[in-house]
Amino acid sequence: MSDATHGSNGQSGASQTVCLVLVEADGDAVCEATRQALTVARELAGTVEAVVLAADEELARRLAPALAAEGVARVHAVTDPLLAEYGPEAFGAALAQLIRSVEPTGVVAPGTARGNEIMAHAAAVTELSLATGCVAIAVDGDAWSVTRQRWGGVLWEDATLAASVKLATLAPHAVAVQPTPGLEHATVSTFACDLDPTLARTQVAQRTPLGAGVTLSTAPVVVSGGRGVGSAEGFAVLEELAERLGGAVGCSRVATNNGWRPHADQVGQTGTRIAPNLYIACGISGATQHWVGCKDAQRILAINTDPEASLVQRADYAVIGDVQTVLRAVVDELDRARQPADAGAGG
Ligand SMILES: Cc1cc2nc3c(=O)[nH]c(=O)nc-3n(C[C@H](O)[C@H](O)[C@H](O)COP(=O)(O)OP(=O)(O)OC[C@H]3O[C@@H](n4cnc5c(N)ncnc54)[C@H](O)[C@@H]3O)c2cc1C
Repeated sequence: MSDATHGSNGQSGASQTVCLVLVEADGDAVCEATRQALTVARELAGTVEAVVLAADEELARRLAPALAAEGVARVHAVTDPLLAEYGPEAFGAALAQLIRSVEPTGVVAPGTARGNEIMAHAAAVTELSLATGCVAIAVDGDAWSVTRQRWGGVLWEDATLAASVKLATLAPHAVAVQPTPGLEHATVSTFACDLDPTLARTQVAQRTPLGAGVTLSTAPVVVSGGRGVGSAEGFAVLEELAERLGGAVGCSRVATNNGWRPHADQVGQTGTRIAPNLYIACGISGATQHWVGCKDAQRILAINTDPEASLVQRADYAVIGDVQTVLRAVVDELDRARQPADAGAGG
């Protein structure tokens, strides 16, 4: 049973300013990018309401306590059988129907690939303006003033969203999640939308399970390889170093294009944007499209045979040398340094 239900012309929030936040979940947990969007939304409107798109209201119910703790007063469980599997057209149309019903002040979504895609479809259906990749959003009278990334993040643009309903996505890692007293309870309202079956045009064909261990987007250390690694087998020593540092392996587009690594490992404009404590770039030149994916790292170490390589020039530390030779020496030294403690524990 829902705590509340509204149909296609139901209103949710009287004359209060309401900001909707599109929720991306990681299983039964609210993902970090959604929590960042909630942090921003709390500054934009008197009431923050969450949107969960799914076949039924179960996911919204499971997420409601965590969302209440983030200050969410109401969770809209937007339901339709077509929402059982992700498809951008159906998800975008469902969000558009909710927007028309609720008429919020605005909608903020995580600027992930999926968040951007859903919002682009919703914007097209509702004919509302959308600002993607925002790094800052503020209320400016009846409008929102935003600063957003352009050209993969090498340029920032100031813009104003003046539509009756403002649509924005927040660039990953643009803001830190801020603590909030939270609410004790979030009302779950079911919004049964009416989706045309032809909206199921794009469907999930295959799922690639994430590898064991830390993920690329949250790893504190990322050991990344490019053309200079030489081959798929050449990544073995990067795996060894990442494992010893509790990190993840990333790569450049050359490595994915050559079939050395899966696309899920790619760092950059058309890959994942990361902000680890340490980024170790091995045999990567530092093309702009790669740089925008790693520039938010707190420290960068470049290992390259070319002292003039762009990434070497921009890195905090650089080792000039062959990637296999340098990394083998580092891994061996780490093992040697740890040996006495291990031997002591074993004896
Ligand atoms: C629209 C678009 C989107 C793109 N998106 C991305 C993206 O998301 N991510 C991305 O990475 N790229 C992306 N690219 C591609 C990007 O422009 C570069 O081509 C790519 O990043 C280069 O990869 P690389 O540094 O591995 O290779 P290269 O540029 O060829 O550099 C190889 C480096 O390895 C060094 N090297 C060679 N041998 C050794 C050795 N034995 N030891 C140590 N160092 C060695 C060389 O000195 C050189 O610096 C995109 C391009 C376009 C047009």
